[in-house]
Amino acid sequence: MAGAALSRRKLLFGAGPCGPRPPWAIPEARFVEYCTSCDACIGACPERVLGRAADGLPRFDPAAGIGECTFCGACVEACGTGALQRTRLPPWGLRATVAGACLAGSGIVCASCREVCPERAIRVPPGGRGAASVDALRCTGCGACVGVCPASAISLAGMEEACA
Ligand code: SF4
Ligand code: SF4
Ligand code: SF4
Repeated sequence: MAGAALSRRKLLFGAGPCGPRPPWAIPEARFVEYCTSCDACIGACPERVLGRAADGLPRFDPAAGIGECTFCGACVEACGTGALQRTRLPPWGLRATVAGACLAGSGIVCASCREVCPERAIRVPPGGRGAASVDALRCTGCGACVGVCPASAISLAGMEEACA
């Protein structure tokens, strides 16, 4: 049952045990087979939001980058093994979530996440009168909001999973 739940989670969020993988990654079981750890996708990313997971394969890590995933496709074009395939739509199922540590939920004025969101997917009540919230229908999982949060309150679904 737990295995079925994990499989469903991977299916929904595009994240394996070392995920989330780069956008347009094929399903995790085949990704680990196809990817040769060549790092071509990591080197091709202009936003530097790809890095190595604990298993040596690439993962999406927006907090470590200089921006967000712009879905430019450079990582896919650099991959010569078929581990990333731009024909897959959508590129992933990642969505941002806000945890209890949001400063705005504790009376502190902050809207850094809302200001950087290119999709206008984040709402923050004015004057520190409530925590930020994400409209999952608008969110693309780009990660712009993750690194700018001073409280590290935002994560992408699946990101917190540790590598087995
Ligand atoms: S789509 Fe572009 S910005 Fe996003 S991870 Fe790939 S190379 Fe980086
Ligand atoms: S940036 Fe972080 S602390 Fe500030 S409103 Fe957004 S989630 Fe809350
Ligand atoms: S991950 Fe979602 S909520 Fe965060 S900046 Fe990107 S689109 Fe906006």
